[in-house]
Amino acid sequence: MPTTVPFFAPDITESDITACAEVLRSGWLTTGPCVREFEKAFASAVGARHAVAVNSCTAALHLALEALGLRPDQGVLVPTMTFAATAEVVRYFGAVPLLVDCDPVTGNLSLDAAAARLAQVRAGGWTPGRRVTDVVGIMPVHVGGLMLDMGEVRRFASRHGLWTVEDAAHALPAAWRPGPDAPWQRCGEDTADVTCYSFYANKTITTGEGGMAVTASAALAERMRLMSLHGLSHDAWNRYTGHGSWDYRIVAPGFKYNLTDIAAALGLRQLARAEAMRQARARIAAHYHQELAGEAGISLPPVDPDRVHAWHLFPIRVEGDPTGARRNAVIEMLRSAGVTCSVHWRPLHLHPYYQETFGYEPDDCPAATALFHGLVSLPIFSRMTGPQMDAVVAGVRAAVRTVRPVQV
Ligand SMILES: *Cc1c(COP(=O)(O)O)cnc(C)c1O
Repeated sequence: MPTTVPFFAPDITESDITACAEVLRSGWLTTGPCVREFEKAFASAVGARHAVAVNSCTAALHLALEALGLRPDQGVLVPTMTFAATAEVVRYFGAVPLLVDCDPVTGNLSLDAAAARLAQVRAGGWTPGRRVTDVVGIMPVHVGGLMLDMGEVRRFASRHGLWTVEDAAHALPAAWRPGPDAPWQRCGEDTADVTCYSFYANKTITTGEGGMAVTASAALAERMRLMSLHGLSHDAWNRYTGHGSWDYRIVAPGFKYNLTDIAAALGLRQLARAEAMRQARARIAAHYHQELAGEAGISLPPVDPDRVHAWHLFPIRVEGDPTGARRNAVIEMLRSAGVTCSVHWRPLHLHPYYQETFGYEPDDCPAATALFHGLVSLPIFSRMTGPQMDAVVAGVRAAVRTVRPVQV
């Protein structure tokens, strides 16, 4: 039997299952003591002052922008190399995602491209089919778990009067430092005005569905907490935890984004193993680097001694065909060999909604367009076995040796 390798498999232990079963037996299923404990443990794990647990990273991003007061027709700098969620939350407000090109090596947002986009928009020289009254924020994404230099991002933001909301869906745990002699700073340790995490099924820790917003600002935390549960006054929260009275006050038209205690019980267990699971992925990444380093026609994701990499993804680049046909053929061959891969991502400016609504074209973000046509994310998850790793390496070797680069 050939070894099959799924793209991802969650790391769920018997003790994770027991923790959820205990909540089910307790009789208190929705937001309660486990959520509070999860928030506390999470804040301390990432070095944040306040943590607000919600039912997805998308919800966390939405609440962050709401708390920061995003208005219709304002512009927000959003990397084109990201998942749907980062930009769609900007659209929730009738605001405009100003898509920014990426660094050709890391895939992370390019600050040079961000500066150029900002200058274009502020000079009135470029409007994405819409009026943009002003540019108010920037939303960096740490692609695959490799952090941007958040010092540079925050200096850029403060120079231009922008807030920073970090989409850290891939970056738990992760850290950066400006150089070998500088102290490490964890993602979420005051790296942005608000930092948002995902606990979706295939993320680095999971609660099935879930998310967290962390911030150093008590005011932002309070607003996000309020809006996460129908805009009910703070006292009403106690009602949800079983200690409140029957009365409550609606102080804003909020949302329904609270996390359940069942999910939080799982989150607490997963959080305790987050670093061990990261180390397991780092070993897989090191194995891929060692085995695939000399392979012609592909390039491997960068490693940086000034980053603690979360290794949520292991994106390789298949070179030698700007149309993407060679990349597609490599993915197909791997699939036939039982190895499931993925692509992160088709950049936003190449999706019909953003093209039709704002007139984005492939050349608006040329580095991301070029990068996309070579991207393949290899399977990487903490429970991967030795034979599975070998199957991935053998599959990649066979595929890139069989599917020849096109002559251009
Ligand atoms: C998964 C993901 C999200 C959305 O997370 P949910 O918890 O599913 O809402 C947002 N941004 C990025 C970069 C992601 O990969």
